[in-house]
Amino acid sequence: MRNQEQEKKPVDMGVLLWNLRMSLDWKRRPHESTFVQTAIDLLEDRIPKSPTMVINSYGWDDYFCPKCNELLNDSRKPHFCENCGQAVKWDEE
Ligand SMILES: [Zn+2]
Repeated sequence: MRNQEQEKKPVDMGVLLWNLRMSLDWKRRPHESTFVQTAIDLLEDRIPKSPTMVINSYGWDDYFCPKCNELLNDSRKPHFCENCGQAVKWDEE
């Protein structure tokens, strides 16, 4: 029973990323580190980040992707940037 409960426990993304970063070793294991870094980049895209808000010349709010600065459609409030796939967190939700 106890083991099943542990298996179902969701992975803490912060802990996972921290451990992956700790296993990076560019000097001694450059080949493996390339793959680990790719995994880190992919996982970081899955962590929702707040969009960057800018007041435009009309006085309205514009929202931009926190990763690639693509303009986001704030009336649709997409959960992912259409340009780079970064997960986006909208504060009102
Ligand atoms: Zn983006």
